[in-house]
Amino acid sequence: MPEPMVGVLALQGDVLEHVAALQRAGARTREVRTPGDLATVDALVVPGGESTTVIRLLERFGLTARVKQRVREGMPFWGTCMGLIVAAHDVADLEQPTLDLIDVTVRRNAFGRQVDSAEIPLAIPALGDVPFPAIFIRAPWIERTGPNVELLAERDGHGVMVRERNVLGTSFHPELTGDDRVHAYFLQMVDGARANSAA
Ligand code: GLN
Repeated sequence: MPEPMVGVLALQGDVLEHVAALQRAGARTREVRTPGDLATVDALVVPGGESTTVIRLLERFGLTARVKQRVREGMPFWGTCMGLIVAAHDVADLEQPTLDLIDVTVRRNAFGRQVDSAEIPLAIPALGDVPFPAIFIRAPWIERTGPNVELLAERDGHGVMVRERNVLGTSFHPELTGDDRVHAYFLQMVDGARANSAA
């Protein structure tokens, strides 16, 4: 099989950093702005940015229902920071409906204004023993996880990395470090999904 084609939602946010990291980790990439773009990708990454804006733009560009349908059918999805907020079942401090792709409740800008940006060494057992240099920028934390959600990392007692089947969420920004282990982890999910659909 050729390398997977991973889409990066390119309506707003730090798109190019994800594109570069995915390519370093061995994927082909495509920027996704329309339902036509979405139809050509094996997986979708939603980068950091501003969640209220992107939730509105997804609807306006006709992507909300299509993304939900693809994810229901098994397409791997990864949201970083704003992308996790967009994917959450609900957001503690936001009325706007989200895409509801993963059974978690998140709270925006939750680590407080004083420490709203930080790089900390984060233990992520699924990635091995070496801590991950996790960059948090006005990051959400995860307040509730549903019964099928795997908690992959915590910071100060709050969830910051979760997975439910084909959906991955991180509060932090792996695309802003030189460490591509989370990208590689996501590409393993993509390979697994492709092997399943080929079987
Ligand atoms: N605080 C932003 C939001 O609410 C997310 C920040 C980010 O993606 N770096 O959408």
